[in-house]
Amino acid sequence: MIRLILIILGLAVGLEPVLAADIQVHAVRVGDDSSRTRLVVELSQKVKYTIFALDNPRRIVINLPPVQFPEDVPAVSGMVKAMRFGQFSVTQSRVVVDLGAPAKVERNFILPPASGFPHRLVIDLVRTDAARFTEQVAAYRSAKLKTATAARPKPTPITPKAKKSDSKPTIVIDAGHGGVDPGALGRKTKEKSVTLSFARELAKQLKATGRYRVYLTRSRDIYIPLRRRVAIARERGASLFISIHADALARKKVRGLSIYTLSENASDKEAAALARKENQSDIVAGVDFEEYPEAADTLLALAQRETKNLSVRFASLVTKRANKQTRLLERPHRFAGFRVLKAPDVPSVLIELGFLTNRQDEKQLRAASWRKKVASALRIAIDDYFKAIPISF
Ligand code: ZN
Repeated sequence: MIRLILIILGLAVGLEPVLAADIQVHAVRVGDDSSRTRLVVELSQKVKYTIFALDNPRRIVINLPPVQFPEDVPAVSGMVKAMRFGQFSVTQSRVVVDLGAPAKVERNFILPPASGFPHRLVIDLVRTDAARFTEQVAAYRSAKLKTATAARPKPTPITPKAKKSDSKPTIVIDAGHGGVDPGALGRKTKEKSVTLSFARELAKQLKATGRYRVYLTRSRDIYIPLRRRVAIARERGASLFISIHADALARKKVRGLSIYTLSENASDKEAAALARKENQSDIVAGVDFEEYPEAADTLLALAQRETKNLSVRFASLVTKRANKQTRLLERPHRFAGFRVLKAPDVPSVLIELGFLTNRQDEKQLRAASWRKKVASALRIAIDDYFKAIPISF
């Protein structure tokens, strides 16, 4: 009824073109019978969409124009093992479906409104074998390349660092995850929201000193590929890159802040597992690596010694200052092969603020007062760091 009134109002004031962001996804549903799994995306209007398949691991990806998704993640069943959705880029929203078994998209179509249901995008999945799944991935890929070669984004060029002439160091703060990649999940908190709130608070405090140039890799709920985050730090000529995250563990008692710097050899099993998990971001977001090639292998080369030494020095300043304001994990500074820390010429750290799976940590992470206090400890560590090193780096 409310919708009907709005439509009538819309007619009264003259029909405005519907903005892309006004498209609502009312629900995403999964149902299955013995032979097929059906995915239904309920939409406020008809949309253009594309579907493709990816392997390693097997996924089905649905690209939509920018839409508003519901808050709740739907229950999954049948061949659908997990699902997530969100903003993928400025012009695109995305649903990523993890498959529990090789599946073929048997049919896909849009149903017009009927029986009280709105427009529905329907995708039917049927069981197939591994070889046919691989063929499907290849077929989608070649079709996509044929139609989209001109529009294909070029690999991010790695431009040399541009040092600004004044002496203010540039700091790039990276809110982990975002959009279609929610990151770790607490009882009622998504990592992507916690990281953004904290990154904003830290940026605000750093800007207020007047001593730094500060940039965020993202300032809203949108996905940014890992390599793009590294490229932003380099393009901005950053003197320091700080990636903000929050962890989740099956052991719910584990809590505390920790900080990571890059190393080929992880300092322990937990650090190695954490890096593997954080490095999954692009896979979680359904990025087709064939279509979006890595910028350059040099990015994956281990950071230079001096950059590493400075990263380590900054990490120890952070643990010293943060220790006074919040609880730290045991051995709070650890090492592992995080992809986001691989700029060869930008000292970089990754901070895990705490554990969303721990009740007290989750409560803290959601509290503006805690974020303010810990951001302030980081700000002091940053001041210490730049007091001690030549700004020219
Ligand atoms: Zn993370």
